[in-house]
Amino acid sequence: MARQLAKTTLDRFKKRLEAEKTRLEEQIEDYQRDLEEARLTESSSDRSPDPGNAEASSMKLEYAKELSIEQNTLDLLSKVNHALERVKQKTYGICESCGKAIPVERLDVLPYSTLCVECAARNS
Ligand SMILES: [Zn+2]
Repeated sequence: MARQLAKTTLDRFKKRLEAEKTRLEEQIEDYQRDLEEARLTESSSDRSPDPGNAEASSMKLEYAKELSIEQNTLDLLSKVNHALERVKQKTYGICESCGKAIPVERLDVLPYSTLCVECAARNS
């Protein structure tokens, strides 16, 4: 039977995960607003007689960068949600792969981690 985290420790991680979730959701909203604005600017510049190609391509690069940042944020958010789900099911802090306790030091660095160091290394 794996060691369970103390309730106070669990609460601490739960609070951190919830704060992280709020932060990520706000970030995603920001990106989506920016992307929407970029899209509107881009379509209006298509109609202009002189599109200014250099500027347009650098904007497309910006846009691609934003998209990949958003993808990372979404990945992180799904990990955070997954960890919160495990808090709810009282399995937080236990490795999903081998069932051993994840060291608190690891959770301190990566609160959304659901694998122990060994299993995470094996999976990557
Ligand atoms: Zn493991």
